[in-house]
Amino acid sequence: MTTIAFIGLGNMGNPMAANLVKAGHSVQGFDLMPDNLATARDNGVTVMANAGAAVRDAEVVITMLPAGKHVVSVYEDIVPQLGDGTLLIDSSTIDIESARKAHGIAARRGLLSVDAPVSGGTGGAVAGTLTFMAGGSAEAFAKAEPVLKPMAGRIVHCGDAGTGQAAKICNNMILGISMIGVAEAFVLAEKIGLTHQALFDVASTSSGQCWSLTTYCPVPGPVPTSPANRDYKPGFAAALMLKDLKLAQEAAQSSGVATPLGAQAAQLYALFSGLGHAGDDFSGIIRMLRGDVA
Ligand code: NAD
Repeated sequence: MTTIAFIGLGNMGNPMAANLVKAGHSVQGFDLMPDNLATARDNGVTVMANAGAAVRDAEVVITMLPAGKHVVSVYEDIVPQLGDGTLLIDSSTIDIESARKAHGIAARRGLLSVDAPVSGGTGGAVAGTLTFMAGGSAEAFAKAEPVLKPMAGRIVHCGDAGTGQAAKICNNMILGISMIGVAEAFVLAEKIGLTHQALFDVASTSSGQCWSLTTYCPVPGPVPTSPANRDYKPGFAAALMLKDLKLAQEAAQSSGVATPLGAQAAQLYALFSGLGHAGDDFSGIIRMLRGDVA
C-alpha cells in the first residue's frame, strides 16, 4: 500500500483516484469544488481541507488539473512541503513549457517527477484502461509505472521530461485532423448518393481506415457506441479538443515547424466552439461542416 496524494478530482481525477483506492492504496485527495470532494469521499478517498494537508506523509503526488498555470502554482505550493523521496506525477494535459517548469521545481528540491498525460477519456478513467504517455528519467519512470498500473491499459515511456506532453499533443493533432477528414467524407458521400453504411463498409477496411472512423464514427449507425448515436453528447468535448490543438500550435510555433492542417483544425474547432458547441462531442463538428449549425 502506498500513500498517494491526488490533487484535482474532476471528471478524470475522481475515477482515477477511485481505481487507486480499489487497488488498495491510501488516497488523500483535494479539489477546489465541494461536489467533487463529496464524490471522492464516496469513492473511499480521504478528503483533505487543502493541498498542503493532502500531501502530508504522501509517497506519491498525482495532479490532474485543467492547465499549465494550475500545475505550476500547485507545485510551487506543495513541493517545499514534501518529504525526501516523494515522487510527483502530473497527468494533466498542459503545455510543454509549464511541464518542464514543473519538473524543474521538483528537481530543485531533489525529487523525481514524471509528466504522464493520458488518452482514453472519462470512459477509460472509470474502466482503468487509460493510456499513459510518460516523460522523465528512467529512474522516475520505474517508480511511477507501478503506481499508474491500476489506472492504465497501457503505459509508454516516451523519453525525458516533457515528452509525455509532446506525445499527447502530437497524437491529438492527428485525431483532430482525422476527425475532420472523416466528417468531410461523410458529408460529401451524402451529397453524391452514397449511404453512410456503404462508405463505412468500404473505408473501414480500406486505406481510409482510422480511429475517427472505426471507433468514433461521426454519423449515427455504423458504430453504435459512437457519440453520434447520442446526439453528440461527450465523450471528448470540442472544448478539450480545441485546448489540445492550441497546445500543438503553441509547440509548432515555438519550434518553427509548419503544421498547416493542425492550424486549420484548430481554427475549425475554435469556430465550432464559438458557435455554442464547446460542450458537444468533438465529432459533432460534422454538423458544422454539413452546414447544420450556424
Ligand atoms: P475537470 O475540470 O473536470 O477537473 C479539473 C479539476 O481540477 C476541477 O475539479 C477543479 O476544481 C480542480 N482544480 C483546479 N485548480 C485546482 C487547485 N489549485 N487545487 C485543487 N484542485 C483544482 O477536468 P478533467 O476533464 O478531469 O481534465 C483534467 C485534465 O485531464 C485536463 O488537463 C484535461 O485536458 C485532461 N484530459 C481530459 C480528458 C477528458 O476526456 N475529460 C481526457 C484526457 C485528458
